[in-house]
Amino acid sequence: MRRCCPRAKTLGLLGMGSKVNDEAIKENDLSLLATLANQAGAALRNARLVSNLRESENEAREATTALRSAKEQLEQLDAVKTDFITIASHELRTPLAQVRGYTDIIEALNEQGMLDQEQLASMTTNLRKATDRMEELIRNMLDVSQIDVNAMDLRFAPASIEQVVRLALEPLTQDIRQRKQSLTARGLRGLPPIEADMQRMVQALQNVVLNAVKFTPDGGKIEITASLQNNPGTKRDEILLAVSDSGIGIDKKHQEIIFEKFVRAHDPSLHSTGKTKFMGAGPGLGLTIARGVIEGHGGRIWVESLGSDPEKLPGSTFYILLPVKPPEDATGVLNFEPTTTSMDRTELLKEVEKFRQQQQQVAGS
Ligand code: ADP
Repeated sequence: MRRCCPRAKTLGLLGMGSKVNDEAIKENDLSLLATLANQAGAALRNARLVSNLRESENEAREATTALRSAKEQLEQLDAVKTDFITIASHELRTPLAQVRGYTDIIEALNEQGMLDQEQLASMTTNLRKATDRMEELIRNMLDVSQIDVNAMDLRFAPASIEQVVRLALEPLTQDIRQRKQSLTARGLRGLPPIEADMQRMVQALQNVVLNAVKFTPDGGKIEITASLQNNPGTKRDEILLAVSDSGIGIDKKHQEIIFEKFVRAHDPSLHSTGKTKFMGAGPGLGLTIARGVIEGHGGRIWVESLGSDPEKLPGSTFYILLPVKPPEDATGVLNFEPTTTSMDRTELLKEVEKFRQQQQQVAGS
């Protein structure tokens, strides 16, 4: 039975058996069937259209969500790029202005013949500090770009955690004393040596401790504890380092994002940029480097804090979990020789001596 146009698509089949009373099937039975078939076809077609429409709606919704997340990612990237420019230019401009200022003063005093040795020594010390800061920022930016492309060259060798902690703390002890903070370290003795890039590990831990110093008010407490654990999943021995402070703490919503580059959880605009001053602003690269180094060792870093409150001082604890033996794929890759921008010290002293001799000759003639 074909009662429809020949180009129509088959939507389904309607079967009809012999009649109950065994009568012959007549034309009006067929037209009743055709009407039924057409109505059922229309209903089916509509149902399919509705279901197709729903599918298209879902697809459109998914595409919108994907677009929205791509837009958010782009906005984030754009914000990071803007932050990068703002932070890098601010962080570079401050020491650059100091270099400019001191060289102008030295020049002016020198022209008037008023430059004494003591003044010169103090100004060159400040000049060195300013250039050190610029060098450090550039070094950190290079480190982050290596982490970004997974190209941090880690040189693994047996290292003692006790020594890592000692070396990380050494350059900070004077500042900790000045800030009247107390620092304790527990559980470091007797831990097995880990396979690690000592220099990088020291850098990572130092960044974490430096933040504890910065975000804890004068007179506060910083505690470092270490313990050996056995990971039940991997059955590997791991060392857990915890750096706790009695500082301003970190909001829950910032606890993950602070490990991203150029992110600062507290508004630093009101504060000084001194390296260890309370709430001193940094470029927001310290934790990015720490995470890059620790993950490069097959480890993990995270923070726990009840929130941020500069009055109640809930404090923060940064945890660093390191496998005693890093997994095979953790070993560093590319060789990267950092370019040194500072002149070799002996060369510099030679230049100074040459300059002094020339001055004497001019004075003598
Ligand atoms: P920087 O210190 O250069 O700003 P980091 O990447 O080291 O950058 O840290 C990012 C941000 O995380 C800091 O600006 C600060 O807001 C927050 N932070 C890190 N450590 C602490 C801490 N111990 N207590 C409170 N806030 C912290």
